[in-house]
Order: sequence, then C-alpha cells, then structure tokens
Amino acid sequence: MDILNQAKDLRETLVSWRRALHACPEIGFDLPRTKTLILQELTAMGYSPKEVGRGSIVAHVGPSEGIKIDGTVARVGAELDSGVSRARLAEGAGIDGTVARVGAGRDSGVSRARPAEGVEKGNYVSRVGDTVGAEKGNNVSRAGHTVGAEKGNNVSRAGHTVGAEILLRADMDGLAIPEAARVEFRAINGNMHACGHDMHTAMLLGAAAMLKAREGELSRGVRLLFQGAEEILQGAEDAVAHGVCEGIGAAYMIHVTVNTRLPVGTVIVPPAGVIAPSADYFEITVQGKGCHGADPASGIDPLSAAARILLGLQHLPAREIPSGERGMLTVGMIHGGDAFNVIPEAARLGGSLRCYGEDFRQVLKTRTEQIARGVAEAFRTRAEVQFPAQCPSLVNDEGLRNRLCDALRGELGTDRLIVVDTPTGTAGSEDFSVISRTVPSVMLALAAGDPTVALHHPGIVFDEDALVYGTAALVTAAIR
Ligand SMILES: [Zn+2]
Repeated sequence: MDILNQAKDLRETLVSWRRALHACPEIGFDLPRTKTLILQELTAMGYSPKEVGRGSIVAHVGPSEGIKIDGTVARVGAELDSGVSRARLAEGAGIDGTVARVGAGRDSGVSRARPAEGVEKGNYVSRVGDTVGAEKGNNVSRAGHTVGAEKGNNVSRAGHTVGAEILLRADMDGLAIPEAARVEFRAINGNMHACGHDMHTAMLLGAAAMLKAREGELSRGVRLLFQGAEEILQGAEDAVAHGVCEGIGAAYMIHVTVNTRLPVGTVIVPPAGVIAPSADYFEITVQGKGCHGADPASGIDPLSAAARILLGLQHLPAREIPSGERGMLTVGMIHGGDAFNVIPEAARLGGSLRCYGEDFRQVLKTRTEQIARGVAEAFRTRAEVQFPAQCPSLVNDEGLRNRLCDALRGELGTDRLIVVDTPTGTAGSEDFSVISRTVPSVMLALAAGDPTVALHHPGIVFDEDALVYGTAALVTAAIR
C-alpha cells in the first residue's frame, strides 16, 4: 500500500494519540505523562525506546549502526522485550531521568539482518547522496555545500560520526497558556499545546508505526527523536549534546502552521538556506538603590533607568539593521517595584532578539549589552545583561530539500504539496536549528487549519485532518 493510504488508515489512532497528548500539556523538560504515553506506545509497537538527556526519547528502527548516544551503545532495535510491564510504565516507574528500562535484554528478533554499513568512528562515509558529519572545526564539502561549520555554530561533536541514519524529530512540550479553545479534549492544567507539538508527536508516533511495519524494507536506520523543551530553546541543544546526531546523515521535522488559507494537510517545503531566525533571549537586571518615594534623591531609581533602556533598545531595530538583513527586538517583560511609595532596589527587563545572519546576531547581542549598560550608567544604575537561552538560525540543506521535494511529489501528488522557492523566512524561531547546524536537515511545514489566529494563541484549534499528511511526509522523508 502506498504511504499516503497507509497513513489514512491510521487516522483514528493519530487523532486519539493527539487528543491524549493535548489533554495533558507539560512544560520544558518536565514531561512525565507525555513521555509515559510515548514510551508505552513505542513499546507496544515493538520498539525499545530510550530516554536521552534531560527530557527526550529516542527509538530506532531498521538497520542499526550501534552509534553511541549518551555514552551507551544504542542498540535499541536489538533488545526488545515484548513482556515489558505496561503497568510499570503507567506508574512512571523507571522513567524520568533514567534510561527507560523497557528492554530487558531479550532479543525479539527485530531485523538485524543487514550488516552494519561500515560506519566507524573517525571515518566519513557518504551513502546515497546523504552525508556526513563535520569534524569539529572543519568544513566538510558536500556536493558544493558546506555543512554546519559557520562560525559560532554547533558542529558535529566528539563522536566524529558519519551520516548514515535518518533522524525524524518531533517536539513534545507545551506552553504555560491556559487553554481557551472549546474542544472536548481541552487541557485544564493551565498549560496548552498552542504550538501544535501534540500534533507533531502524534505524527511521529504514526511514522514510527508505519516504519516498524516496513522495517525489513529499510535500507538505512531511522532514529526517532521525541524532544522536550523546544519552547524554552534548550531541548535540541541538550539532545545534540547527548549524541542524538551521532551517525545521522539527514534530519527532518515538520511543524504545523495556521493563519493560512491553504487546504488542510498541505505540506509546505520551504526554500533552501536560512528559513527561520536565530533567537537570543536576554535578561537585563538594573540595579539601583531603594528609598522612600517621598525622597527620591536619597536613592537611585532603577525603574526610570529601565524605562530608558527599553526606549534605547528600540533604537536597534529602528536604526541599526543593515539593508539586506532582518532583525527583531522585543521586550516582553518589565518587572520592578511593589508599592506606590517606594523606589525599589532593582528592576528587570526580559526580551528576545531574532535575526537571520549569524554575524549580525553577534552584533545585535553586543549592541543590546552596550545600550543597556550605557543607559544604565547614564542614570547612575548598573545593568547586568544575560542571555539565558538561544538557538541559531535554521538552515534547510539544499540537496536534501530538493530530493525530498521529488519524493514528496511522488508520494503525496501535487494537491497537498507546495514548494516555496523564494526565501521569505518565518518570524518564529525553532530550536531544530541546532540540529540543522549539526547535520544536513530539512524543516517542513504543514497547513493545519484555523486561518483566524496565530500559533501560541490560547484559542487555537488545529485541524486533525492534517495529521495524515504530516505522517506520510515524515515516512516519505525517512525512506525516500
Ligand atoms: Zn513549535
């Protein structure tokens, strides 16, 4: 059966996974119920999923290279234990910070028939047109492109691996937004899947089921990454630091999008090159000197300085973005003071910087610090500037993206496929960018209804008909 029809047969299951996830959105790395559901479902499919880093899950299907992840050889496909206790998983036993012990060593006979494909630490192997990690600090030339070696980027780490396997990634964290959507499976815990990560996770579970059914046909291993903490821009970095890109030659993800009049389920292939901006969150603490509100001259007012810093920062997007660049600066928080008649000790501003060029990104960060410190000093306060979270801009690999376009045309037809060749750049950032700076990657988008609101809106309702098409796109990417 072709991929799209097989995905259509999974529709009810995709919807039930998605609704179960939607009803229990969790935040950051703290995802116990979400992870339990994923571990249970993967195990029921015959996988041996592992927890990696602070809040991610990986599972493997197809030929295994035995690549190291997080210090342990990830032979997940070879250690299946079909007798895993579902009850233990439901209780969360063995989950949360430890390797999920779903595989107790009994070999279920999952396909290991294909020999390892000559991937050895330190070698570069190029297979089927996909390549190849970059040794730290080196530029590896691939079909005229350079991989992940721009200054300041994450480049493949100490494992010095080799691109052989395919990575499919979904994020699984929600947002601290009380849900306002009137759906029967709405979340009531004060959080919300308002960015559609429940849709992403359901689609990757769907892809997991379909790939497992085709395991004997797979010519390359496929690593499934269920990643936490995307919204706080820490999950991908953590997962990469724990080795999830070791041995990966190509990585893919799909993100739902709304606010579009495209037919639901349309898969959008963005152009090659930088398609999403970097993000740098900044936090500015303005230190003054508290005093009685009736005698301001006896203190130093941090609120007044913070207000001027905010205005000073507006100068950056207004006057310091060169033509040909795009940049955004948003102050999203300003806090200070608790009383009508007190000048407080300190004030705090928080915000985000976004741009497309990695060099300009450094300029923006430097200027933010200079303006904050300089303005603070002018008003006798002291500003400390920190950047607590960040991700680079996201790059779609040209060769990989073009081959995927051909494969998607073959599998989805042209009704539900839009190929965008003109760079426009999304406004939002996506921490998959860390992976895209480590191995050749493609991010796809998926039209999922509701043209009236934007992502992260508390009333957003995604159209579940999109799930089938996103799942088919992920499977196509894995086996093309
Ligand atoms: Zn998102």
